[in-house]
Amino acid sequence: MNNYGLEIWGDDNFVIHNSTINVKHGKEPSLIEIVEKIRSKGHKGPLMLRFPHLIQKQIVKLFDAFKQAKESFQYKGDFHAVFPLKVNQFPNFVDSLIAVSEGYNYGLEAGSKAELVIAMSKTPLGAPITVNGFKDKEMVSLCFIASKMGHNITITIEGLGELETIIEVNEEFNGKEFTSMIPKIGVRIRLHSAGIGIWAKSGGYSSKFGLTSTELLEAYSLMVKHNLLGQLSMVHFHIGSQMSDIAPLKKALREAGNIYAELKKRGATSLSAINIGGGLAVEYGQHPHSQERNYSLNEFANDVIFLMQEISKNKGVEEPDIFTESGRYVAAAHAVLVAPVIELFSQEYNKKELSAKEVHPPLIQELDDLFNGLDSKNAREYLHDALDHMESLLTLFDLGYIDLEDRSNTEILVNLIIKKAIILLAGHGGSELKKLQQRIQERYLVNFSIFQSLPDFWGLEQNFPIAPLTHLDQRATNPASIWDITCDSDGELPFNPRLPLHLHDIDLDKEDYFLGFFLTGAYQEVLGMRHNLFSHPTECVINFSDSGVYEIVDIIEAQNLMDILEDLEYDTYVIDTTLKQRIEQSEQLSSEEKQHLLGRLYLYMSENSYLKINP
Ligand SMILES: *Cc1c(COP(=O)(O)O)cnc(C)c1O
Repeated sequence: MNNYGLEIWGDDNFVIHNSTINVKHGKEPSLIEIVEKIRSKGHKGPLMLRFPHLIQKQIVKLFDAFKQAKESFQYKGDFHAVFPLKVNQFPNFVDSLIAVSEGYNYGLEAGSKAELVIAMSKTPLGAPITVNGFKDKEMVSLCFIASKMGHNITITIEGLGELETIIEVNEEFNGKEFTSMIPKIGVRIRLHSAGIGIWAKSGGYSSKFGLTSTELLEAYSLMVKHNLLGQLSMVHFHIGSQMSDIAPLKKALREAGNIYAELKKRGATSLSAINIGGGLAVEYGQHPHSQERNYSLNEFANDVIFLMQEISKNKGVEEPDIFTESGRYVAAAHAVLVAPVIELFSQEYNKKELSAKEVHPPLIQELDDLFNGLDSKNAREYLHDALDHMESLLTLFDLGYIDLEDRSNTEILVNLIIKKAIILLAGHGGSELKKLQQRIQERYLVNFSIFQSLPDFWGLEQNFPIAPLTHLDQRATNPASIWDITCDSDGELPFNPRLPLHLHDIDLDKEDYFLGFFLTGAYQEVLGMRHNLFSHPTECVINFSDSGVYEIVDIIEAQNLMDILEDLEYDTYVIDTTLKQRIEQSEQLSSEEKQHLLGRLYLYMSENSYLKINP
């Protein structure tokens, strides 16, 4: 039975019970049960399910791995972590994150003013806030306000200009004195080593970010000159996201560790931490040969602790506290996007669609015989015969000897024969069958937008695990491509013979069929774009009680049509009155009809863009 690679990407978060995929937590409800409960309240279209227990699990794993590594090396520095808000700033996520991380002194990382405002209001006082990215005077001032509020905040400077801004802002807030109520300072270093993979651009020497060694020395002198060295507390780097291999991290750790030690020996006595950024990868792979990560969390933690210890010992400095800013690793697993299939395109290739005739042309009769006689022994031979007959029949059509109905019957029968042969040959058909699979792939039209919900597939060809929520006790035999409902030909997850996805042959007139897109909790939501004006899907939070019973809370309905237009700065009042006037002033309509049309119009405008089709 196909379990859709659950053992590779699932991390024990889900389990297959009979025909359904279930949450492996509490009383292990099936995803389909949760989805139907939400849909019964009238929410159709795609749904984003959030599972806070999976955020908690990742945070606990992260802290445990570093605790273990610290213990086994008897490392003296502390371990701290912050969540980088750019990975997911949605309130249902952030509020869950804060709630489940209680007791870990877990903080937030901000990369813009708006994110900083979230961090200032949501981080518990005392838990760390780190501030990265390019900053102007206002942003630095916000950091000073945060520290006066009592926040434990560190400004990471990306360039010398930002240090000058800090000096200027301090003068405005505190005069010439540097009191203890001002932000700590971190320095982001520009690494020689770079990450690998599609996200590697944020590390490395040509990176957008960080100070070169020369700039670092200048920054050091500037801090000494302005009596600011006491604030320098952190050395920071980030080698890029979804680090598939551990080797670049080790190189980066050596560079950063030696810079830390050099600065300390030079006199930066308050320097006490190394911030290793993010990059911890998530296993999105759904096939054994396409795994994306070659290390475990424990290996990662051990490498960090071991290397920092070794460098500190060699250079005779204190072992630094370790900060991480892992985002993808913490957030990806918590969200599952569920979307209904609304059409199978080649469902017309069905025996019941065959056109009846008194007498069929002999070759069509033969195709029918081939289809009925097909078994695992003759499958390959009959398949070849069928393809040969098809060529002849198509030629006969071109020459005018058979009609359109014959041609349609040919297409249906050959399609059915290929499908049946693929099942009978069960993977032993070699490259020929692989090519045929592509030819008869089934197109599943799915009620969602790839641009809105899986933007990294569109932009970076990042694959996400996909599995149907039901029918998992039946073999799926249709090579599948997935089409979204945007009018864009890029809105497709094509069938990829190297990473084949097979789905079930479903009669949508008789039953629903839902697809789950897993590990979509990191980056996808805020990067999602409103191509064709499809909005963020309806979302909700699934909380489990101590007794294992789940509860669906905080449902946020997808934006309605008028809200979407308002977000684009349309004057919705004008749109509203124009539409109303065009109905009211029509001379062809009776007044009852006008009332009726207005009622309908307002109903539709209060709903979201996704299709309401009930197959
Ligand atoms: C993006 C980013 C992160 C998070 O990276 P992940 O790969 O999601 O863990 C951490 N720190 C900085 C500075 C970043 O820019």
